[in-house]
Amino acid sequence: MLKEFLDKFRTTPLLHHDEPALMPVFKRQPVSFVRGRGSILWDDEDNAYLDALGGIAVTILGHSHPRISEAISLQADRLLHVSNHFHIQEQARLGEKFCAIAEMDKVFFANSGAEANEAAIKIARAYGHSRGIKYPTIITAKKSFHGRTMATLSATGNPALQAGFEPMLANFIHVDFNSLDAVGVHADNEDVVAVMVEPILGESGIIVPDEGYLRSLRQLCDEHGWFLILDEIQTGMGRTGKWFAYQHENVLPDVMTSAKALANGIPIGACAARGKAAAVLTAGTHGSTFGGNPLACKIALTTIDIIEQDALLEAAHEMGLFLRKQLQQQIGTHAGVVDIRGKGMMLAVELDQAHPDLASLFLAAGLVVNITGGGKIIRLLPAINISDAEAKKIIQIVHDVVCAL
Ligand code: PLP
Repeated sequence: MLKEFLDKFRTTPLLHHDEPALMPVFKRQPVSFVRGRGSILWDDEDNAYLDALGGIAVTILGHSHPRISEAISLQADRLLHVSNHFHIQEQARLGEKFCAIAEMDKVFFANSGAEANEAAIKIARAYGHSRGIKYPTIITAKKSFHGRTMATLSATGNPALQAGFEPMLANFIHVDFNSLDAVGVHADNEDVVAVMVEPILGESGIIVPDEGYLRSLRQLCDEHGWFLILDEIQTGMGRTGKWFAYQHENVLPDVMTSAKALANGIPIGACAARGKAAAVLTAGTHGSTFGGNPLACKIALTTIDIIEQDALLEAAHEMGLFLRKQLQQQIGTHAGVVDIRGKGMMLAVELDQAHPDLASLFLAAGLVVNITGGGKIIRLLPAINISDAEAKKIIQIVHDVVCAL
């Protein structure tokens, strides 16, 4: 049944929507969502889809969560923006709460992941200068993704994304992910000030490092006086079953960044730091017009509150195990499936070959997913509060589509 439907869909794909005035930087799927509730999205023809992507790890509590909607409405009616020239109550409150859950000392709020990473890079560079290092250098990972601004693109370990925008910022060294030796090789480089990695490579297809990788990186950084910077933009806010992925290994970075799910869809980014790293940025050295505005901070506080009250860290852990086990059982031995992996509600199914339009095939079957790895990796980043029935439906559709390929 599904096979017939997919074959038909292959010959009559949905039309792309017109957007002649937009710079064509996104390869969009042929669908326009107009509303959502929980983990269900509806398109402009009122077709319903199950959302297993959450706006790329953003809507961690699903769409139109009643408490989030209420908080947005109340805050909009109270105060949206005043500028950082003044004390902002919501920002101060979120600062304390965020530092408590992240186990950090101080935080700076920005508007996106890339901006949060910009702050982290500036902290590392400024720290280097304070130690007399003229060309402070940061070690990052190949296949990493840290953003699209010039500094974060330079940090990103993906030459394809950098092509055409050279020269990159100097003084980033890209090494193999999940290899301590690859970092250790640079032990004698006196310009190195920091190692910056994602705890799990997200954009590259949910690549989970060996257990102990972060702990060993921590040790290496301590031995050499380097900062450990962890980009938790995709892994953070409960997605892996802890507030932040480094908490699985009981290590603390010197600097960490968060964004995406932090306010469940209202743009915000955070760069938090601990110890010496927390004292680097001083008045006038960094800033943002919108960063830490009352609306974004109030919604981030509400998001954290809901995750705590509804015990959603535990739910993410349990549901993640369930999803992985079910995927393993249903398609683990299927000829086209190479690997099923992930942590918490951050999962991937890797196929043996690329399939063109795989994301569109999933859409035709009623499931929103993301395809990475050149068309081979199905990435699942559902809300952490999905129901059992929704989880089973995700498994069923993934099974049906993979088996119909
Ligand atoms: N870092 C990681 C790990 C990400 O996954 C992303 C976005 O996908 C970013 C940074 C950039 O975040 P933003 O798109 O909000 O700038």
